[in-house]
Amino acid sequence: MFSIWSISNRTNGIKGPWLPGFISLLFPEKCAFCRTLLLTRGEEIPVLCLACEKEIQWMVPPHCPRCGRPFPKGSTSHLCSDCLKQKLFFDWGRAVVLYQGVLAEAIRRFKYHGDISLAGPLGLFWNRMNLEDLSFEAILPVPLHPARLRERGFNQALLLGKILAKIHNKKVLPKALRRIRNTIPQVQLDHSERERNVRGAFAVREKQEILDKRLLLVDDVFTTGATVNECARVLKKSGAKEVFILTLARVGAA
Ligand SMILES: [Zn+2]
Ligand SMILES: [Zn+2]
Repeated sequence: MFSIWSISNRTNGIKGPWLPGFISLLFPEKCAFCRTLLLTRGEEIPVLCLACEKEIQWMVPPHCPRCGRPFPKGSTSHLCSDCLKQKLFFDWGRAVVLYQGVLAEAIRRFKYHGDISLAGPLGLFWNRMNLEDLSFEAILPVPLHPARLRERGFNQALLLGKILAKIHNKKVLPKALRRIRNTIPQVQLDHSERERNVRGAFAVREKQEILDKRLLLVDDVFTTGATVNECARVLKKSGAKEVFILTLARVGAA
């Protein structure tokens, strides 16, 4: 098992202490986020430089045990107001890191500027999540509308979901859920507008695929949760047994 931050040294299997340095002189590795040159650390070539590593803020308790909403340091973990009011349709939600700084910049480059070389380094973050207790059966990426997909050329949630599926040896159901309405990008809207914007935007393509299944819905960023919650609503209505949400990043506590 490799460390979350490192790719295995390409010189694996070739003996000689001089090789890693020599190889990295010929093919210098750059930080996946800020592109500064990297130095090998022991047996491994890191993916991020130390400065970028330091900026990453892992999502840690205290948080809502059900939806993962972060609480200020020092408070105790308890159900959040959304979960108490039963406004959420998913059964469990978590994010790996806080959406800020170099990480947010990398996600924007990946998603809006088509830098798909970032999919691999971002996918390494999944290693940090222990999902064994969930016993989910399949991974569903949040779908893009076909028009948006044509424009962007890829679905970031699908690329990240495929990496997650490899780690956990699960299947991906990329077409089980489809986006039937091309909505305004959520980024321009406030909380209640987001809910209205995605209402009725998704449909289940083939009920049989999700019936009685425990599903893990994957996306890149959780902002207000309106999108994933609407997906969860539709999936539950169509007979999914449980819907779990996992996003790479989450916007900080409001
Ligand atoms: Zn860096
Ligand atoms: Zn909650």
